[in-house]
Amino acid sequence: MTKLNTTDLSIGYEKKIVVNDITVEIPAGKITSLIGPNGSGKSTFLKALARILEPAKGEVLIDGENVQRLDTKAVAQKIASLSQGSSPVNGLTVAEIVAYGRYPYQKGFSGLKEPDHQLIRWALEATNLMKLQDRTLATLSGGQQQRVWIAMALAQDTDILILDEPITFLDPAHQLEILELLQAINRQGKTILMTIHDLNHASRFSDYLLGMKQGELIFQGPPKEIFTAEKLLNLFDIQATFATLPNSDKPIVMAYDLVKEH
Ligand code: ADP
Repeated sequence: MTKLNTTDLSIGYEKKIVVNDITVEIPAGKITSLIGPNGSGKSTFLKALARILEPAKGEVLIDGENVQRLDTKAVAQKIASLSQGSSPVNGLTVAEIVAYGRYPYQKGFSGLKEPDHQLIRWALEATNLMKLQDRTLATLSGGQQQRVWIAMALAQDTDILILDEPITFLDPAHQLEILELLQAINRQGKTILMTIHDLNHASRFSDYLLGMKQGELIFQGPPKEIFTAEKLLNLFDIQATFATLPNSDKPIVMAYDLVKEH
């Protein structure tokens, strides 16, 4: 299983550092959610992990190798990464978009081979898109479109999947559909790292949580350890009360209030 970790990682734009000195290992084979206020550096951190942004300091290591010393295709064979509001594509069908997931494995212009087609079919099946494969993206609902991007990432056949806000803009049923899909993918052995704003989904679907505030990783651990009044107050400036999900040991936030000014 591919190991992903960072050492003293700082990332910035121009001269401004927005992610500061993060040393962390993403638990292999688990679902990890990165939580924290808007603007705290979550997307920036995920982009550096996927080698989209170059660190100002420190290293991102895949199986002990600095990603800056790997080429784009080598990284894309290890990590599939989906950003917020993935890029618009005009006129391409679902099957064509999913086939892009095989790009990191293409040599020259030799085209897709049978093993590539097998993986594309598997990705379409896993995401329940077989019947929609000839439709263009624009004709699909938001939830279906999100499944297409996940299928493309699956076709990439990586051990690690990184997703920035995969359920934002989806209605409650479609949010669950995507999270259950990610859970099923995880059970097939993939490491998943995502950002998510819904705390209760984060708890329910994650093995591990990372809390980021103003570019610092301020805590990490399983949801049971993270969902405390003190930690959520520190992270979000909210006063939360908790319950436990029925038939589970997962904590949920029952209600929360803004901290009143004194
Ligand atoms: P989050 O994902 O937690 O909302 P981001 O990583 O998007 O946080 O942003 C962290 C900080 O970096 C913010 O202050 C944001 O304004 C800044 N930032 C993000 N992207 C850019 C960019 N392309 N250029 C300059 N600053 C940026």
